[in-house]
Amino acid sequence: MKPLDYRDRTLTCDGVALADVAAKAGTPCYVYSAATILANYRAYEDALQGAPHTVCYAMKANGNLAILRLLARAGAGFDIVSGGELHRVLKAGGDPAKVVFSGVGKTAEEIDAALAAGIFAFNCESEPELALVDALAHRRGVKARVALRVNPDVDAATHAYISTGSLAHKFGIDIGEAEAVYERARQHANLLLEGVSCHIGSQQFDFDPMLQAADRVLELIVCLRAKGFSIRHVDLGGGLGIAYKPDDPAPPIGEFATALREKVAGQGLHLFLEPGRSIVGDAGVLLARVLYRKKGGEKEFVIVDAAMNDLIRPALYDAHHEILPLRATQGCGLRADVVGPVCESGDFLAQDRQMPDVFPGDLLAVCTAGAYGFVQASNYNARPRPAEVLIEDGSWRVIRARESLDDLIRGEE
Ligand SMILES: *Cc1c(COP(=O)(O)O)cnc(C)c1O
Repeated sequence: MKPLDYRDRTLTCDGVALADVAAKAGTPCYVYSAATILANYRAYEDALQGAPHTVCYAMKANGNLAILRLLARAGAGFDIVSGGELHRVLKAGGDPAKVVFSGVGKTAEEIDAALAAGIFAFNCESEPELALVDALAHRRGVKARVALRVNPDVDAATHAYISTGSLAHKFGIDIGEAEAVYERARQHANLLLEGVSCHIGSQQFDFDPMLQAADRVLELIVCLRAKGFSIRHVDLGGGLGIAYKPDDPAPPIGEFATALREKVAGQGLHLFLEPGRSIVGDAGVLLARVLYRKKGGEKEFVIVDAAMNDLIRPALYDAHHEILPLRATQGCGLRADVVGPVCESGDFLAQDRQMPDVFPGDLLAVCTAGAYGFVQASNYNARPRPAEVLIEDGSWRVIRARESLDDLIRGEE
C-alpha cells in the first residue's frame, strides 16, 4: 500500500486526500500515483544500469495513455499483445524501436501494423506465426526481428490462470523443440532470428523458477550460437509479484533485476524485461462508496458502488485486495463480504473480511488495484466504466472520464 498514508485520520495518496478526489471525480474511480509508477520503473533501470538492457512495460497491466506517456518519457519500452495496444503506445509517444510484440494469436493485420510501425521484435509463439511474419515482411520489403518464445517447462508457483511456463499451457514453443524450429526458420529469408524470449507466469515471489527458466534459455542460446545463429538479445519476460497483503514481502524489484542481470552478464546479450504488475500494481487504488449494509443469516454484507465489472480480480483469481476506509476509524469490529451491485454471486471485492465498521455513504479504497484493474473492466450490467485519476506532483487530474450512459450504447443500431 506504498503511496497511501493516513494524515489527520484521512487517507491520502502522495499527499492528496482521496476523499477530495472521490467527491469531485465520483465513485467508483481508479486513482494512480505517478511517483510510485516511476519509482518502480526506476528500480528496474537502476538495477540494470550499465548493462545493455531495455525495460518493456507490459502495458496489458494498465494501458491508460497518461500512464504510457509517463513511462515513455522516462525512457521505457513496451511489451504489447495486440494491435490495439500498439495503437495506444504510438498515441502515447512510445518509441516503436523499443516495442516487443507478444501473444499466441497475432492476426495478419496486427503483424502488418507492427511492421509498418517498425517495432523492435516479435516474440513468436508458433511456426505458422513465423511463416506469416516472414510473408508480411517480404510484402513490405523489410526484415522482421524475431525471438522465439520458448516454454522452458518450469512450474511457476502461482495461480493456475496466470501460470504460463509449463508444457500444459498454450504459450510458447517447447524448449526441447526450439533448436529444430530455429533450423526450419532459416528458410524464412525475411526474418532476423536474433533473439530468444520466455515468460513463465505472473505474481511470482520465488526467484527459483524464474532463474531456472533463464538458465534453460541461456543454454539454448549457447546451442543456437554453435549452430551459427547470431543471437543478440534475450527477453526474460515479466512476472514479478507484488504485495497484496500488509504482511507480504515488498516487491523486490532491485534484487530480481540484479539476479537476472548477473545471469546474463558477459554473454554479449541485450537483456529485455517485460514487467507489468510490478510497475503499476501498488500504484493504484479503486475508490468505492458504501451503499447499504445488510444481513443474510449469519452473514453480513457491505454493498458498495464498485463491482466485479470494475475490478474482476477477486472473482477471477481469488485475489486479495486490502480495503481501507478513507476516514480512519477505530477497531475492526465488522466481519463482512464486500460486494457490488452486479447480479452474480461471484461479484465480491472481499469475503469474510475483518474490517472497520463502515456505514452507507462511507468511502473505501480497494488497494493495490493499479494492475489488471481498469484494463479488465467491462460494461456488464450496463455499468459505465469508472473514471481514472492520476496524482502527479501534488495535484490530481482525470486521465479517463467516467463513461456516460450514451457511451454504453455507442455503435449500436
Ligand atoms: C502478462 C505478460 C507480462 C507481464 O506480466 P506481469 O506479471 O504483469 O509482470 C510480460 N510478458 C508477457 C508475454 C505477458 O503475457
